[in-house]
Amino acid sequence: MERIVIVSNRVPLPRQRGAQAGGLAVALRDVFGKAEGLWFGWSGETTESTSGELRFTRAGRMTYAVMDLGRADFERYYNGFANACLWPLLHYRLGLLDFHREDYHGYMAVNRAMAAALKPLLRPWDRIWIHDYHLIPMGQELRKLGVANPIGFFLHTPFPPADLLEALPAHDSLGECFMGYDLIGLQTEHDRRCFQGFVTRCLGGRVHPDGQFEAFGKSSRVDVFGVGIDAPAFAELATESESGEETQRLKESLAGRQLAIGVDRLDFSKGLPSRFHAYGALLERWPEHRSKVTYLQIAPHSRGEIATYRSLRRELEQIAGRINGKYAEFDWQPLRYLNKALTRPVLAGFYRLSRIGLVTPLRDGMNLVAKEYVAAQPPHDPGVLILSRFAGAAEGLTAALLVNPFDSDSMADAMHMALVMPFEERHARWQAMMQQLKSDGAAWWASRFLATLDVASRHSHPLS
Ligand code: UDP
Repeated sequence: MERIVIVSNRVPLPRQRGAQAGGLAVALRDVFGKAEGLWFGWSGETTESTSGELRFTRAGRMTYAVMDLGRADFERYYNGFANACLWPLLHYRLGLLDFHREDYHGYMAVNRAMAAALKPLLRPWDRIWIHDYHLIPMGQELRKLGVANPIGFFLHTPFPPADLLEALPAHDSLGECFMGYDLIGLQTEHDRRCFQGFVTRCLGGRVHPDGQFEAFGKSSRVDVFGVGIDAPAFAELATESESGEETQRLKESLAGRQLAIGVDRLDFSKGLPSRFHAYGALLERWPEHRSKVTYLQIAPHSRGEIATYRSLRRELEQIAGRINGKYAEFDWQPLRYLNKALTRPVLAGFYRLSRIGLVTPLRDGMNLVAKEYVAAQPPHDPGVLILSRFAGAAEGLTAALLVNPFDSDSMADAMHMALVMPFEERHARWQAMMQQLKSDGAAWWASRFLATLDVASRHSHPLS
């Protein structure tokens, strides 16, 4: 029987549902929760060494297979190459690139070990779908083991211009890994143009207008599939959560003030320091908003083992402290800054209550929070999305207030505009965005990727 095999670094096991989940887990869970499939990846645990032994969980028609990683392997693969090297590079942050050859070897070794562990589970009619920057080499490793099934890859991060990627010492060998796939999916048209530039300029390949490309004597295909959300379902969740305990408590604590909300993993790509500065500028330049607005920033910690993340945390604590110290009144705290994760239902209720959704990453593959914020708005009083033009979501959500996240002053202008925007304009912008969201939901994203993979696997020649 036909089956879809999903491979991702983290596997959202059914018992962990409700815990904080990244964008990938949320998008895939919506689609494959009820389908026949195998979901394979890292267990989230480290041990003495990587043994390749698997643990299985079954839930409905899904089987989850996870493996532990050896501590040293994990350190090089995850904290090292994937997150201290690839993540900053893919988010255009050349200055944060921290390349070590042994990390790259560790990254390749873990991909090899994961391919070897997955291989015995594969059946002839499986379609394999590998996700994200941790696992770029996995397709090629499976091919080396003789796997001839259709294999697709989706990159959830941005794909930067060739000029930046060239700075990565291993860019050509990593680039060759893309040739193990029948189909490469990217979030935006801009990413696609960058990818094609990388193929021609760094890999010496050729690209065709229909997305086919050739390099290293093999051919593959690249296409755009922006990740969407199930907007009607999220709207329903927000409506239900409105009367929930947390949303009611938040509402009472606001005492009639307008709420601005930001929800981001604590990551340097999310542009939090300049967003905080923008809010400070709003209070400075428009004293009439003082005591009338509260900004709630939810920023769960992530990747605390990496030094850049620890210093970002300190920086944000300082800016938040300065803003509150300067503007707070005995009965008003301007900025509420939380480092804990909240569940999606609670977030949905909070979005619905917020007059402004602040989504201002310096770079982001897509950004699902932007879409969730829009979907959660009440039609009779919708809030305003302030969105970075450098988030993938901005390619579709053009009715948001689009801002340059490097310009705190213009972001403060946008916050002011949002606070005084008349209902008619808020509603027209919201309606246009909602329409856009409904046209490219999560299910559409996955089914279009898989349908394109079927076509692409008949035309590409990854083994030739
Ligand atoms: N999220 C959550 N709890 C939190 C923070 C975030 O459930 O405390 C969810 C959020 O609703 C969204 C996802 O995590 O669905 C984050 O996805 P996004 O694309 O915005 O960013 P990423 O973390 O993948 O960079």
